[in-house]
Amino acid sequence: MNTSVPLLTDYNTFKVGAKARSVHSLSSIAQLRLFLESHVSEPYLFLGQGSNVLFTRDYPYDVALVRWRGKQVKLLSETEALLIAAAGEPWHELVMWSLQQGLGGLENLALIPGSMGAAPIQNIGAYGVELKDVFEWCKAMHRTTLEERTFAFEECAFGYRDSVFKNELKDQYVITEVALRLSRNVHSINITYAPLQDWFAQAQTTTPISPLAVAEAVCSIRKAKLPDPKVIGNAGSFFKNPVISSEKAKELLSQNSETPIYPQPNGSFKVAAGWLIDQLHLKGFKMGKAAVHDKQALVLVNTGGASGKELFDLSTHIKQRVSETYRIELEEEVTIF
Ligand SMILES: Cc1cc2nc3c(=O)[nH]c(=O)nc-3n(C[C@H](O)[C@H](O)[C@H](O)COP(=O)(O)OP(=O)(O)OC[C@H]3O[C@@H](n4cnc5c(N)ncnc54)[C@H](O)[C@@H]3O)c2cc1C
Repeated sequence: MNTSVPLLTDYNTFKVGAKARSVHSLSSIAQLRLFLESHVSEPYLFLGQGSNVLFTRDYPYDVALVRWRGKQVKLLSETEALLIAAAGEPWHELVMWSLQQGLGGLENLALIPGSMGAAPIQNIGAYGVELKDVFEWCKAMHRTTLEERTFAFEECAFGYRDSVFKNELKDQYVITEVALRLSRNVHSINITYAPLQDWFAQAQTTTPISPLAVAEAVCSIRKAKLPDPKVIGNAGSFFKNPVISSEKAKELLSQNSETPIYPQPNGSFKVAAGWLIDQLHLKGFKMGKAAVHDKQALVLVNTGGASGKELFDLSTHIKQRVSETYRIELEEEVTIF
């Protein structure tokens, strides 16, 4: 177990320089057990790649980095395989590796930063696909009893950027391994999401579209739209798209017929939070060294040396403006510490 300098700048994609008491890099399940055994009586925090967190202050306890690796493919049939990956596997690398193995299913989720272990926690999603669409099971260790448990799909209560691990079982388990059911030989491509449709319409592809081609398209679209956290600190979408009632949807559409509102399977509606923020002319808006990205209103960026507090204050300002104007309460997608 390595103990290193307790500054978190390199461990969160916002590049916020909060301090921790110590940082432990856990590269095996044995190290995870030791860490949990020695931390029964005090708080601590697990971090994967730190791409979905904002530190608004120093963290006065120990931080554990999920770094145990390993992946394998189990063939289930001519058309299906199980990809089993350790929690510390970097997500995008895993997606590209699975495609190189001829497996399909993860292509729409290419270029999402983060680790395998964190992916089920908020049921990562992009371009019309969510982790739940391929999720088979995950293994997790209870943080106090150290008991290992396998969670089946139904037990995870996946929702929009949501799961049981953010609700009833919040902070109770560490996810150690995840299994995903992927396609082989026969793939079903999902390019229903408008930007992908446009991409392939423009490319005028004549051959059948492969999962790898979808991943490449997703990467190109994302690179054009989203700031690279290696260049400018950010955590992707800061807010979730609000879920609204049909009455509220009608009200918004009566005010502006172009409001991007999407019907949901349960009869509710989702409105694009980025569009609401953009309508308030907040793209590029700055508070100190924190700013709303000038191309993507849902992304807050650290323009260089911003504190977590500055980013948090900017997010509060945006929430207030949206609430005053639309009577809609934005909810953070990013976990705030
Ligand atoms: C540029 C950019 C684009 C993004 N785009 C998307 C997108 O399109 N779709 C999307 O869904 N998300 C997106 N995200 C958010 C982020 O990539 C995902 O939420 C990702 O799954 C977070 O992984 P992580 O390892 O960085 O988690 P972290 O930020 O390290 O942790 C997130 C939370 O999970 C907990 N945690 C981490 N690992 C474990 C574990 N093994 N067991 C238990 N708890 C754990 C942490 O304590 C924390 O509470 C984006 C982020 C960035 C920076």
